[in-house]
Parts: sequence; C-alpha cells; structure tokens
Amino acid sequence: MITTTRFAPSPTGLLHLGHAHAALFAWRLARAGSGRFLLRFEDIDPGRCRPEYAEAIAEDLAWLGIDWDGDVRVQSANLPDYAAALACLSRRDLVYPCFCTRADIAREAAGSASAPHGPDGAPLYPGTCRRHSAACRAALLATGTPHALRLDMALACAEAGPLSFHERGEGRLHCDPARFGDIILARKDAPASYHLCVTHDDCLQGVNLVTRGVDLKPATDVQRLLQVLLGWPEPEYAHHELVCGPDGRRLARRAPAATLRDLRSRGVSPAEARAMAGFPDGLRTPSSAPRAGR
Ligand code: GLU
Repeated sequence: MITTTRFAPSPTGLLHLGHAHAALFAWRLARAGSGRFLLRFEDIDPGRCRPEYAEAIAEDLAWLGIDWDGDVRVQSANLPDYAAALACLSRRDLVYPCFCTRADIAREAAGSASAPHGPDGAPLYPGTCRRHSAACRAALLATGTPHALRLDMALACAEAGPLSFHERGEGRLHCDPARFGDIILARKDAPASYHLCVTHDDCLQGVNLVTRGVDLKPATDVQRLLQVLLGWPEPEYAHHELVCGPDGRRLARRAPAATLRDLRSRGVSPAEARAMAGFPDGLRTPSSAPRAGR
C-alpha cells in the first residue's frame, strides 16, 4: 500500500517555520516511498480564515520546494459532505442541539466547585441541553434560537467501545475521548467542527498516515471515536515535535519575524529556510536523492 500524507493548514495567517517543518515532515514521509502528498485548506471557520492566506500558503510551499498531488481540497467548498456526516450521527441520536451561550456555560461552571475540566484546562460542557426534553428542544428549534450541535459523548463511547491508535515509533496507544466531554461538531457560526472535517477528509482522500504537531496528539482520541462511529478507516499517526524559536518558545503564527515571507524578503534561500525548519538535508527523502533542480 502506498503512503498518503497531507499538510492541512488553516489559512488564518502566513506560514512560519513551524508550518514549514510540518509540511516537510509530511512531504518527506510520502515521497520516501513514492507515496502521495496532499494539500488541504481547513478553512471551515469563516471568522478566522482568508482565501488570500490560502493563496499565500500555496505559493510559500512551492517556494520551499514542496509539490503536492492532485487538486487542493478546500473545506469551505465542500460543506454538504460534512452536513451528511452530521446527519448520519443525528439519525442515531448521537448528536443534540445546544442553545447555551459561552456566558451560560461559564456561569454554570463557576457555580460548581467541582466542575470537570478538559485537557485544554477549560471547563467541560455541563450537559445542560443534553437533558432537555424532546418537546423543549423542538420548541427552541421552532423559535429559531441559534444552536450548536454537540456529540453525546457517553452514548458515543458506549457505541464505539474501546479505542486506540497506532503512533509510529510508539505502538498502540489507548484513547480516552470522554475526557473532552460533549464536544461541538457544528458551531453556531461554523457549519462543522475541525474534528469532523479533518476525519471526514482524511477518509475521503485516502490519507493513511496522519502527520501533525504533537500539540494535536490529544485530538486523536476524539478523531478515532468519530472514525469508528462513521465507519471510516483508521490511519496511522506520526506526531512530530514543534519547532521552537531561539528563546525556546513555540513559534506562533503571529510572530512576523518567523514567517517564510519575512525570511524570503531578507534574502534567505529555500534551502536555508528548509534547514532552519529542521531539515538541513533539504529535500532529500530517507530513501532518495534530492530532486534535480530544487
Ligand atoms: N488544520 C489544523 C491546523 O492548522 C491541522 C489539522 C490536522 O493536521 O489535524 O492546526
């Protein structure tokens, strides 16, 4: 089986060296085995993503010497796909509408000294709307009250059974999606969530090796759950370390000095940028010589 990897940035800003590392990491693993490398824009959040950033990202990748196979998938152009996946979960009563505002949730969490917290330190959703009767839910929906869609985590976990994933170099790791609580699968202002879209597209595009920063490793627990619930195949995972700046802190997308555009304008060559991103042997893949002319 050939390896298919992808680089799936959200076009919310310009690429920095951390993104270059992620893209080169995925590109090299694909190309090492004559595999496929895909580019996907995860632009589902209309408030944060901009088409001009997507354009700039594609151009920066090409400048870096990275090529990709086939068409670029743009999530915002494929919303019916995610709606169909959501409908499949809704039909099985695994999803419920949540009418709570952020303030409602914060108030409820503040009122309970023992409110459980998720892996990101934020209080878990207390389940207020999960407990609504069908009649109450229907009435709220009928009035057009804005709502998100949440996964009923306890039901979903019971249906899926024990979950794990294979991390390259580590073996099988146990998943515990319940620690995320009733996650949002569609927001009031965005038609589908990151977790739903990323797992949908990895399945659709035949991605069998998911590579990304280790900061997203915990997200794998939720994504494996969705894969099992929706009957999507299980990819292998390879999470890489994050690139840090000279001060030892993680590079943020907003740090202008670290963008590829900025390096380029200072006369840094693609080969130098690749080295700065942690790949001093350039485009050499583990089993092949560098591509001519790059
Ligand atoms: N779109 C996500 C991001 O930009 C990455 C998706 C993934 O690799 O799972 O952080």
